[in-house]
Amino acid sequence: MYLLKSGFDVNIYEKNGVAGGFCTSWQRNGVTIDGCLHWLIGTHGDSGLGRIWREIGGIKDGEIVKLDSFFKVFYENETLTFYNDFDKLERELNRVCVCDKDKDEVARFLDVLRYLGMFEIPSDIPPELSTQPPKLDLSFARKTISYMTRTLAEYAQKFETPIIRYALENAPVNKRFCVLYFAETLSNLCSGNADLPRGGSSAAMHNVTDRFKALGGKLITGAPVSEIIIENSMAKGIKLESGEIVYGDYTVAACDVHHTFEKLLKNKYPPNAFFDSDADKEKYSTYSYITAAFKTNMDLRARNVSEIYKTEKFDLSGKEYDVLSVRHYGYDESFTNDGYTVLQVFVDTNADDYERIKAMSRSEYVEFKRRTGETLKRQLEKYYAVNGDVELIDVITPRTYERYLNSYQGSFMSFPLGAKMQQPLYARRVNGIDRLYLANQWLMAPGGTPIAVISGKFAAQLIAADAEGKLPKEK
Ligand SMILES: Cc1cc2nc3c(=O)[nH]c(=O)nc-3n(C[C@H](O)[C@H](O)[C@H](O)COP(=O)(O)OP(=O)(O)OC[C@H]3O[C@@H](n4cnc5c(N)ncnc54)[C@H](O)[C@@H]3O)c2cc1C
Repeated sequence: MYLLKSGFDVNIYEKNGVAGGFCTSWQRNGVTIDGCLHWLIGTHGDSGLGRIWREIGGIKDGEIVKLDSFFKVFYENETLTFYNDFDKLERELNRVCVCDKDKDEVARFLDVLRYLGMFEIPSDIPPELSTQPPKLDLSFARKTISYMTRTLAEYAQKFETPIIRYALENAPVNKRFCVLYFAETLSNLCSGNADLPRGGSSAAMHNVTDRFKALGGKLITGAPVSEIIIENSMAKGIKLESGEIVYGDYTVAACDVHHTFEKLLKNKYPPNAFFDSDADKEKYSTYSYITAAFKTNMDLRARNVSEIYKTEKFDLSGKEYDVLSVRHYGYDESFTNDGYTVLQVFVDTNADDYERIKAMSRSEYVEFKRRTGETLKRQLEKYYAVNGDVELIDVITPRTYERYLNSYQGSFMSFPLGAKMQQPLYARRVNGIDRLYLANQWLMAPGGTPIAVISGKFAAQLIAADAEGKLPKEK
């Protein structure tokens, strides 16, 4: 979109039948399974990201759904709701605190949440083109350092209140991420800057695609790329799996960065910091979901959209869990068809889970999905106060994502950065190749759609600068 606005002709070659990647929905048994957005940071029109979403069409004013809460926890006859409102959230956390020490920590946490509401992810101009030296905001660093250097799991141990501990360890933001990511998400939700586009993930992506085409862009779907053509250290275009060769002045690899280096560049170019991280699985274990989707005729509108239940221990193909994380889709009438809507149950996965699933034969995998769906259905019926039909309609795993999107280990976020782990800095260019740019959620932790969309805008700005001969030389 930004390249079109700068006067370039733009063709997008997309592997699948629709654009949008992870940010998608699909139909099963007459209902819509929204495969992505639980919140979209940048719904506030005054934020930098909010302006980008509006420029590209992903968010339309008047078509935003606001939810009351982030999630609600059910723990041994007690509940705790993470409201999307600073004051209500503070009162609710204080309500469950079992000691003054925890109340002090709640006060500190809320102070940081309110403070984070004043910050946003830089999205104006890529650092490579900035004439200002990077600003080090010492007050920000002082205030948030302990949240940057601690995982959510570690932070949970600071509390003596069992339900707060449990909530932090099982929040919809994985406990392996640093506290700052959880706090930023919650802060954006409480500031009214992380709502949902009406119609969900697909509606947002259709709007973006329509805007792109209206500006003159060409989208070629069902066109997997097999190779980026490099001649004399310069990207000249792409080769499609069909054998067709397409030349262009500039190439943007907007798919998973691992896929770009390993498959599209055939491992011929020195990869950036990614591959050092991949080698250290202990520290940089990937993150994804197994999701079971259910069709239901329950009226869910009065319930919290995301609910987390402490369960008795149950086994899912050899691994024990004591949590049931459920999200309903009755909050948006466009997901409801003939009184039916969808419930999704999420199970967090890591690199070991991916490898276990990947190693399964086709028949083992089919059986694994069937058993997973049935087990999660039993848990749902036991804990979720089901009062209607519940029919299993799909099971999605990291292997699904890998097959559909060529995503590294099926992960949809970048590495969860734990305690004292450096943010790996991923370059937007590839050492030794001119006119090739990267745009993908992997380029900055924690990933997600904000990083994906900012990386696309930055790639366009770098290309425009390159074309004008204003691109600084790589160091
Ligand atoms: C269940 C779930 C919930 C999520 N919730 C949220 C949320 O609430 N908020 C949020 O911000 N993010 C969320 N995310 C994460 C978010 O969806 C992703 O981080 C983001 O969409 C990644 O975008 P991307 O453009 O970087 O990569 P991708 O979405 O992977 O896009 C890459 C595109 O490249 C295409 N491609 C790959 N290989 C080739 C090839 N060889 N040739 C041609 N095309 C190719 C793919 O088909 C795809 O369309 C969620 C994801 C999931 C799965």
